[in-house]
Amino acid sequence: MNETASLRARAEIDLAALRANVRVLRERAAGAQLMAVVKSDGYGHGAVPCARAARAAGATWLGTATPHEALALRAAGLDGRIMCWLWTPGGPWREAVEAGIDVSAGAMWALREAVAAARSAGRPARVQLKADTGLGRGGCQPADWPELVGAARDAERAGHLRITGLWSHFACADEPGHPSIAAQLDVYRDMVAYAEKEGVEPEVRHMANSPATLTIPEAHFDLVRTGIAMYGISPAPELGTSAELGLRPVMTLSASVALVKDAPAGHGVSYGYHYTTPADTTLGLIPVGYADGVPRHASGSGPVLVGGKVRTVAGRVAMDQFVVDLGGDRPEAGAEAVLFGPGDRGEPTAQDWAEAAGTIAYEIVTRIGARVPRVHVNETPDETAGGVPR
Ligand SMILES: *Cc1c(COP(=O)(O)O)cnc(C)c1O
Repeated sequence: MNETASLRARAEIDLAALRANVRVLRERAAGAQLMAVVKSDGYGHGAVPCARAARAAGATWLGTATPHEALALRAAGLDGRIMCWLWTPGGPWREAVEAGIDVSAGAMWALREAVAAARSAGRPARVQLKADTGLGRGGCQPADWPELVGAARDAERAGHLRITGLWSHFACADEPGHPSIAAQLDVYRDMVAYAEKEGVEPEVRHMANSPATLTIPEAHFDLVRTGIAMYGISPAPELGTSAELGLRPVMTLSASVALVKDAPAGHGVSYGYHYTTPADTTLGLIPVGYADGVPRHASGSGPVLVGGKVRTVAGRVAMDQFVVDLGGDRPEAGAEAVLFGPGDRGEPTAQDWAEAAGTIAYEIVTRIGARVPRVHVNETPDETAGGVPR
Protein backbone atom coordinates (compact mmCIF):
# COMPACT_ATOMS: atom_id res chain seq x y z
CA MET A 1 0.00 0.00 0.00
CA ASN A 2 0.99 3.65 -0.17
CA GLU A 3 2.11 5.89 2.69
CA THR A 4 -1.34 5.77 4.29
CA ALA A 5 -0.49 2.23 5.43
CA SER A 6 1.65 3.81 8.13
CA LEU A 7 -1.34 5.58 9.64
CA ARG A 8 -2.63 4.34 12.97
CA ALA A 9 -5.99 3.81 11.36
CA ARG A 10 -7.70 4.77 8.13
CA ALA A 11 -11.03 4.49 6.39
CA GLU A 12 -10.31 3.92 2.73
CA ILE A 13 -13.16 5.14 0.55
CA ASP A 14 -13.35 3.54 -2.88
CA LEU A 15 -15.06 6.10 -5.09
CA ALA A 16 -15.04 3.75 -8.08
CA ALA A 17 -17.22 1.39 -6.03
CA LEU A 18 -19.52 4.29 -5.14
CA ARG A 19 -19.89 5.27 -8.78
CA ALA A 20 -20.62 1.67 -9.75
CA ASN A 21 -23.25 1.44 -7.00
CA VAL A 22 -24.92 4.62 -8.25
CA ARG A 23 -25.10 3.12 -11.74
CA VAL A 24 -26.63 -0.09 -10.39
CA LEU A 25 -29.25 1.89 -8.46
CA ARG A 26 -30.05 4.06 -11.48
CA GLU A 27 -30.72 0.88 -13.45
CA ARG A 28 -32.95 -0.42 -10.66
CA ALA A 29 -34.93 2.82 -10.83
CA ALA A 30 -34.74 3.52 -14.55
CA GLY A 31 -37.19 6.28 -15.34
CA ALA A 32 -36.60 8.08 -12.05
CA GLN A 33 -33.86 10.51 -11.17
CA LEU A 34 -31.49 9.62 -8.36
CA MET A 35 -30.76 11.68 -5.26
CA ALA A 36 -27.44 10.79 -3.63
CA VAL A 37 -28.05 11.12 0.12
CA VAL A 38 -24.83 12.43 1.65
CA LYS A 39 -26.06 13.48 5.09
CA SER A 40 -23.90 12.94 8.15
CA ASP A 41 -20.69 13.41 6.16
CA GLY A 42 -21.79 10.95 3.53
CA TYR A 43 -22.66 8.26 6.11
CA GLY A 44 -19.11 8.71 7.40
CA HIS A 45 -17.51 8.39 3.94
CA GLY A 46 -16.87 12.12 3.33
CA ALA A 47 -19.76 14.14 1.92
CA VAL A 48 -18.01 16.22 -0.71
CA PRO A 49 -15.94 13.52 -2.47
CA CYS A 50 -18.93 11.18 -2.36
CA ALA A 51 -21.24 13.87 -3.74
CA ARG A 52 -18.82 14.56 -6.59
CA ALA A 53 -18.49 10.85 -7.38
CA ALA A 54 -22.26 10.37 -7.28
CA ARG A 55 -22.72 13.32 -9.64
CA ALA A 56 -20.13 11.83 -12.01
CA ALA A 57 -22.18 8.62 -12.07
CA GLY A 58 -25.41 10.42 -12.90
CA ALA A 59 -27.01 11.45 -9.61
CA THR A 60 -28.94 14.61 -10.51
CA TRP A 61 -29.88 15.45 -6.92
CA LEU A 62 -27.95 15.60 -3.66
CA GLY A 63 -29.76 15.26 -0.34
CA THR A 64 -28.80 16.10 3.21
CA ALA A 65 -30.57 16.20 6.53
CA THR A 66 -29.48 19.60 7.82
CA PRO A 67 -29.27 22.88 5.94
CA HIS A 68 -25.68 23.32 7.12
CA GLU A 69 -24.74 20.10 5.37
CA ALA A 70 -26.41 21.33 2.18
CA LEU A 71 -24.73 24.75 2.36
CA ALA A 72 -21.35 23.04 2.80
CA LEU A 73 -21.89 21.17 -0.48
CA ARG A 74 -22.64 24.44 -2.28
CA ALA A 75 -19.62 26.08 -0.67
CA ALA A 76 -17.48 23.20 -1.97
CA GLY A 77 -18.62 24.06 -5.47
CA LEU A 78 -21.32 21.46 -6.07
CA ASP A 79 -23.96 22.95 -8.31
CA GLY A 80 -27.28 21.57 -9.48
CA ARG A 81 -30.14 20.42 -7.31
CA ILE A 82 -29.57 20.02 -3.58
CA MET A 83 -32.29 19.37 -1.01
CA CYS A 84 -32.26 19.30 2.77
CA TRP A 85 -35.11 18.35 5.04
CA LEU A 86 -34.29 18.64 8.74
CA TRP A 87 -35.19 22.19 9.69
CA THR A 88 -35.69 23.96 12.98
CA PRO A 89 -37.06 27.44 13.63
CA GLY A 90 -34.40 30.11 13.16
CA GLY A 91 -32.34 27.93 10.82
CA PRO A 92 -30.39 29.31 7.86
CA TRP A 93 -33.48 29.65 5.66
CA ARG A 94 -32.27 32.78 3.90
CA GLU A 95 -28.84 31.32 3.14
CA ALA A 96 -30.50 28.22 1.71
CA VAL A 97 -32.82 30.28 -0.50
CA GLU A 98 -29.91 32.39 -1.70
CA ALA A 99 -27.93 29.23 -2.49
CA GLY A 100 -30.83 27.81 -4.51
CA ILE A 101 -31.20 24.86 -2.16
CA ASP A 102 -34.58 23.10 -1.99
CA VAL A 103 -35.99 23.40 1.51
CA SER A 104 -38.64 21.17 3.02
CA ALA A 105 -41.79 22.26 4.82
CA GLY A 106 -44.03 19.87 6.69
CA ALA A 107 -45.66 22.44 8.96
CA MET A 108 -47.03 25.98 8.78
CA TRP A 109 -44.15 27.45 10.78
CA ALA A 110 -41.66 26.15 8.23
CA LEU A 111 -43.63 27.60 5.34
CA ARG A 112 -43.70 30.98 7.09
CA GLU A 113 -39.92 30.86 7.58
CA ALA A 114 -39.41 29.98 3.91
CA VAL A 115 -41.61 32.90 2.80
CA ALA A 116 -39.82 35.33 5.12
CA ALA A 117 -36.46 34.12 3.82
CA ALA A 118 -37.59 34.54 0.22
CA ARG A 119 -38.75 38.10 0.92
CA SER A 120 -35.43 39.08 2.44
CA ALA A 121 -33.40 37.23 -0.19
CA GLY A 122 -35.41 38.85 -2.95
CA ARG A 123 -35.91 35.58 -4.77
CA PRO A 124 -38.48 32.81 -4.51
CA ALA A 125 -37.76 29.85 -2.24
CA ARG A 126 -37.79 26.34 -3.69
CA VAL A 127 -40.02 24.49 -1.26
CA GLN A 128 -40.85 20.81 -1.14
CA LEU A 129 -43.91 19.89 0.89
CA LYS A 130 -43.45 16.88 3.12
CA ALA A 131 -46.34 14.54 3.79
CA ASP A 132 -46.49 12.24 6.80
CA THR A 133 -48.08 9.23 5.11
CA GLY A 134 -47.64 7.01 8.15
CA LEU A 135 -44.07 7.13 9.44
CA GLY A 136 -45.17 9.41 12.25
CA ARG A 137 -41.94 11.37 12.20
CA GLY A 138 -41.51 14.56 10.14
CA GLY A 139 -44.09 15.85 7.71
CA CYS A 140 -47.67 17.02 7.58
CA GLN A 141 -50.53 14.80 8.66
CA PRO A 142 -53.29 14.26 6.07
CA ALA A 143 -55.75 16.25 8.22
CA ASP A 144 -53.48 19.31 8.10
CA TRP A 145 -52.50 18.95 4.43
CA PRO A 146 -55.22 21.23 2.97
CA GLU A 147 -54.11 24.11 5.19
CA LEU A 148 -50.41 23.62 4.29
CA VAL A 149 -51.08 23.17 0.57
CA GLY A 150 -53.45 26.15 0.54
CA ALA A 151 -50.94 28.43 2.22
CA ALA A 152 -48.14 27.21 -0.05
CA ARG A 153 -50.25 27.84 -3.15
CA ASP A 154 -51.10 31.35 -1.93
CA ALA A 155 -47.39 32.07 -1.41
CA GLU A 156 -46.62 30.59 -4.81
CA ARG A 157 -49.19 32.83 -6.51
CA ALA A 158 -47.68 35.79 -4.66
CA GLY A 159 -44.27 34.91 -6.11
CA HIS A 160 -42.61 34.05 -2.78
CA LEU A 161 -41.93 30.44 -3.54
CA ARG A 162 -42.17 27.64 -6.01
CA ILE A 163 -43.50 24.27 -4.82
CA THR A 164 -40.83 22.08 -6.35
CA GLY A 165 -41.64 18.75 -4.75
CA LEU A 166 -44.15 16.62 -2.88
CA TRP A 167 -42.50 13.94 -0.85
CA SER A 168 -42.75 11.41 1.96
CA HIS A 169 -40.76 8.67 3.68
CA PHE A 170 -41.43 4.99 4.44
CA ALA A 171 -41.53 3.36 7.88
CA CYS A 172 -40.96 -0.29 6.90
CA ALA A 173 -39.56 -0.35 3.36
CA ASP A 174 -36.91 -2.82 4.52
CA GLU A 175 -39.61 -5.39 5.34
CA PRO A 176 -41.01 -6.46 1.95
CA GLY A 177 -44.76 -7.06 2.10
CA HIS A 178 -45.23 -5.12 5.31
CA PRO A 179 -48.83 -3.84 5.19
CA SER A 180 -47.72 -0.29 5.96
CA ILE A 181 -46.02 -0.07 2.55
CA ALA A 182 -49.21 -0.29 0.51
CA ALA A 183 -51.03 1.85 3.07
CA GLN A 184 -48.41 4.61 2.88
CA LEU A 185 -48.43 4.50 -0.93
CA ASP A 186 -52.22 4.95 -0.91
CA VAL A 187 -52.05 7.91 1.45
CA TYR A 188 -49.21 9.45 -0.56
CA ARG A 189 -51.09 9.16 -3.85
CA ASP A 190 -54.14 10.80 -2.25
CA MET A 191 -52.08 13.65 -0.82
CA VAL A 192 -50.32 14.22 -4.15
CA ALA A 193 -53.66 14.14 -5.99
CA TYR A 194 -55.10 16.71 -3.59
CA ALA A 195 -52.13 19.07 -4.04
CA GLU A 196 -52.22 18.72 -7.83
CA LYS A 197 -55.97 19.43 -7.84
CA GLU A 198 -55.13 22.63 -5.96
CA GLY A 199 -52.76 23.60 -8.76
CA VAL A 200 -49.41 22.32 -7.48
CA GLU A 201 -47.12 21.29 -10.34
CA PRO A 202 -44.16 19.63 -8.62
CA GLU A 203 -40.90 18.99 -10.42
CA VAL A 204 -40.42 15.83 -8.38
CA ARG A 205 -42.59 13.45 -6.38
CA HIS A 206 -40.56 11.06 -4.27
CA MET A 207 -40.78 8.55 -1.48
CA ALA A 208 -38.21 5.79 -1.94
CA ASN A 209 -35.12 5.28 0.24
CA SER A 210 -32.62 2.49 -0.55
CA PRO A 211 -34.80 -0.48 0.42
CA ALA A 212 -37.78 0.93 -1.49
CA THR A 213 -35.56 1.63 -4.50
CA LEU A 214 -34.46 -2.02 -4.46
CA THR A 215 -37.78 -3.69 -3.71
CA ILE A 216 -40.79 -1.41 -4.40
CA PRO A 217 -40.80 -0.30 -8.06
CA GLU A 218 -44.17 1.44 -7.70
CA ALA A 219 -42.56 3.73 -5.12
CA HIS A 220 -39.97 5.15 -7.51
CA PHE A 221 -42.14 8.02 -8.84
CA ASP A 222 -39.89 10.82 -10.24
CA LEU A 223 -36.92 10.45 -7.93
CA VAL A 224 -35.36 7.91 -5.56
CA ARG A 225 -33.32 8.96 -2.52
CA THR A 226 -30.56 6.45 -1.94
CA GLY A 227 -28.14 6.50 0.95
CA ILE A 228 -26.91 3.21 2.35
CA ALA A 229 -27.09 1.23 -0.89
CA MET A 230 -24.96 3.84 -2.65
CA TYR A 231 -22.29 3.15 -0.02
CA GLY A 232 -22.54 -0.49 -1.04
CA ILE A 233 -24.29 -1.81 2.04
CA SER A 234 -27.49 -3.83 1.94
CA PRO A 235 -30.27 -1.94 3.77
CA ALA A 236 -31.24 -5.14 5.56
CA PRO A 237 -29.73 -8.64 5.49
CA GLU A 238 -33.15 -10.08 4.60
CA LEU A 239 -33.02 -8.20 1.28
CA GLY A 240 -29.78 -9.95 0.32
CA THR A 241 -26.09 -9.35 0.76
CA SER A 242 -24.36 -6.47 -0.94
CA ALA A 243 -23.04 -8.86 -3.59
CA GLU A 244 -26.48 -10.33 -4.21
CA LEU A 245 -27.80 -6.82 -4.77
CA GLY A 246 -24.93 -5.99 -7.14
CA LEU A 247 -23.43 -3.50 -4.68
CA ARG A 248 -19.88 -3.13 -3.42
CA PRO A 249 -19.08 -1.74 0.06
CA VAL A 250 -17.23 1.55 -0.33
CA MET A 251 -15.49 1.84 3.07
CA THR A 252 -12.63 -0.30 4.33
CA LEU A 253 -11.67 0.38 7.95
CA SER A 254 -8.22 -0.78 8.91
CA ALA A 255 -5.55 -0.13 11.51
CA SER A 256 -1.88 -0.91 11.98
CA VAL A 257 -1.17 -3.52 14.63
CA ALA A 258 0.54 -1.58 17.42
CA LEU A 259 2.08 -4.44 19.39
CA VAL A 260 2.36 -8.24 19.34
CA LYS A 261 3.52 -10.04 22.46
CA ASP A 262 3.52 -13.35 24.26
CA ALA A 263 1.15 -13.83 27.16
CA PRO A 264 0.82 -16.82 29.49
CA ALA A 265 -2.32 -18.89 30.02
CA GLY A 266 -4.78 -17.39 32.46
CA HIS A 267 -3.89 -13.77 31.71
CA GLY A 268 -6.77 -11.30 31.98
CA VAL A 269 -7.21 -9.02 28.98
CA SER A 270 -8.48 -5.43 28.96
CA TYR A 271 -10.70 -3.59 31.44
CA GLY A 272 -12.78 -5.78 33.70
CA TYR A 273 -11.03 -9.00 32.67
CA HIS A 274 -13.92 -10.14 30.49
CA TYR A 275 -11.45 -12.31 28.59
CA THR A 276 -8.78 -14.58 30.01
CA THR A 277 -6.24 -16.31 27.78
CA PRO A 278 -7.18 -20.01 27.69
CA ALA A 279 -3.56 -21.07 26.98
CA ASP A 280 -0.12 -19.62 26.37
CA THR A 281 -0.70 -17.34 23.40
CA THR A 282 0.13 -14.11 21.59
CA LEU A 283 -1.87 -10.93 21.94
CA GLY A 284 -2.19 -8.21 19.31
CA LEU A 285 -2.99 -4.60 20.14
CA ILE A 286 -5.29 -2.87 17.63
CA PRO A 287 -5.07 0.90 18.09
CA VAL A 288 -8.70 1.90 17.54
CA GLY A 289 -11.48 2.07 20.08
CA TYR A 290 -14.90 3.42 20.79
CA ALA A 291 -13.70 7.01 20.36
CA ASP A 292 -13.03 6.01 16.76
CA GLY A 293 -16.49 4.49 16.42
CA VAL A 294 -15.63 0.87 17.18
CA PRO A 295 -18.73 -0.12 19.12
CA ARG A 296 -18.09 -1.01 22.76
CA HIS A 297 -21.08 -3.31 22.39
CA ALA A 298 -18.85 -5.45 20.16
CA SER A 299 -16.57 -6.25 23.12
CA GLY A 300 -15.90 -9.98 22.95
CA SER A 301 -17.58 -10.31 19.56
CA GLY A 302 -16.27 -7.91 16.90
CA PRO A 303 -14.30 -9.60 14.06
CA VAL A 304 -10.94 -8.42 12.66
CA LEU A 305 -8.75 -9.83 9.90
CA VAL A 306 -5.15 -9.98 11.14
CA GLY A 307 -2.36 -11.97 9.52
CA GLY A 308 -4.78 -13.75 7.19
CA LYS A 309 -7.12 -14.96 9.94
CA VAL A 310 -10.32 -13.52 11.33
CA ARG A 311 -9.90 -12.91 15.07
CA THR A 312 -12.37 -11.71 17.64
CA VAL A 313 -12.07 -8.75 19.99
CA ALA A 314 -10.75 -10.19 23.27
CA GLY A 315 -12.44 -8.53 26.22
CA ARG A 316 -13.59 -4.96 26.24
CA VAL A 317 -13.18 -2.38 23.50
CA ALA A 318 -11.53 0.61 25.20
CA MET A 319 -11.62 4.24 24.12
CA ASP A 320 -8.58 4.07 21.86
CA GLN A 321 -7.67 0.41 21.50
CA PHE A 322 -8.63 -3.21 21.82
CA VAL A 323 -6.83 -6.54 21.92
CA VAL A 324 -7.13 -9.73 19.87
CA ASP A 325 -5.88 -13.15 20.86
CA LEU A 326 -3.61 -14.23 18.00
CA GLY A 327 -3.36 -17.83 19.22
CA GLY A 328 0.43 -17.99 18.88
CA ASP A 329 0.67 -16.21 15.51
CA ARG A 330 3.21 -13.42 15.34
CA PRO A 331 2.39 -10.84 12.71
CA GLU A 332 4.78 -7.89 12.83
CA ALA A 333 3.87 -4.71 14.60
CA GLY A 334 2.61 -2.49 11.78
CA ALA A 335 0.80 -5.37 10.06
CA GLU A 336 -2.59 -4.47 8.69
CA ALA A 337 -5.68 -5.26 10.74
CA VAL A 338 -8.88 -4.95 8.71
CA LEU A 339 -12.03 -4.41 10.74
CA PHE A 340 -14.34 -4.36 7.78
CA GLY A 341 -14.40 -3.90 4.03
CA PRO A 342 -16.03 -5.37 0.94
CA GLY A 343 -15.21 -8.88 2.20
CA ASP A 344 -13.35 -10.27 -0.79
CA ARG A 345 -9.98 -10.49 0.98
CA GLY A 346 -11.64 -12.53 3.70
CA GLU A 347 -12.14 -9.48 5.90
CA PRO A 348 -15.38 -8.98 7.85
CA THR A 349 -18.02 -6.56 6.58
CA ALA A 350 -19.84 -3.69 8.26
CA GLN A 351 -22.82 -6.03 8.43
CA ASP A 352 -20.72 -8.51 10.46
CA TRP A 353 -19.90 -5.71 12.91
CA ALA A 354 -23.55 -4.71 13.05
CA GLU A 355 -24.44 -8.24 14.08
CA ALA A 356 -21.59 -8.35 16.61
CA ALA A 357 -22.78 -5.09 18.17
CA GLY A 358 -26.53 -5.67 17.94
CA THR A 359 -27.15 -2.79 15.56
CA ILE A 360 -27.50 -2.04 11.84
CA ALA A 361 -24.70 -1.53 9.32
CA TYR A 362 -25.89 2.07 8.81
CA GLU A 363 -24.72 2.84 12.34
CA ILE A 364 -21.38 1.06 11.92
CA VAL A 365 -20.17 3.22 9.02
CA THR A 366 -21.81 6.44 10.19
CA ARG A 367 -20.25 6.34 13.64
CA ILE A 368 -16.61 6.12 12.51
CA GLY A 369 -15.01 9.05 14.29
CA ALA A 370 -13.32 12.19 13.03
CA ARG A 371 -9.99 10.91 14.38
CA VAL A 372 -9.89 8.30 11.61
CA PRO A 373 -8.64 9.85 8.37
CA ARG A 374 -10.69 9.16 5.28
CA VAL A 375 -8.47 8.19 2.37
CA HIS A 376 -10.35 8.58 -0.90
CA VAL A 377 -9.13 6.39 -3.73
CA ASN A 378 -10.16 6.06 -7.38
CA GLU A 379 -11.31 9.66 -7.43
CA THR A 380 -10.90 9.90 -11.18
CA PRO A 381 -14.01 8.79 -13.07
CA ASP A 382 -11.73 7.33 -15.75
CA GLU A 383 -12.01 3.64 -14.86
CA THR A 384 -9.12 2.75 -17.18
CA ALA A 385 -6.84 4.74 -14.88
CA GLY A 386 -8.46 3.03 -11.89
CA GLY A 387 -6.75 1.58 -8.88
CA VAL A 388 -4.39 4.50 -8.45
CA PRO A 389 -4.64 6.02 -4.99
CA ARG A 390 -4.47 9.78 -5.12
C1 LIG B 1 -31.49 9.06 5.25
C2 LIG B 1 -32.65 9.27 4.38
C3 LIG B 1 -32.75 8.62 3.13
C4 LIG B 1 -31.78 7.56 2.68
O1 LIG B 1 -32.09 6.34 3.34
P1 LIG B 1 -31.31 5.00 2.97
O2 LIG B 1 -32.10 3.92 3.61
O3 LIG B 1 -29.94 5.14 3.55
O4 LIG B 1 -31.29 4.92 1.49
C5 LIG B 1 -33.80 8.94 2.31
N1 LIG B 1 -34.73 9.86 2.69
C6 LIG B 1 -34.67 10.47 3.89
C7 LIG B 1 -35.72 11.43 4.24
C8 LIG B 1 -33.65 10.20 4.77
O5 LIG B 1 -33.61 10.82 5.95
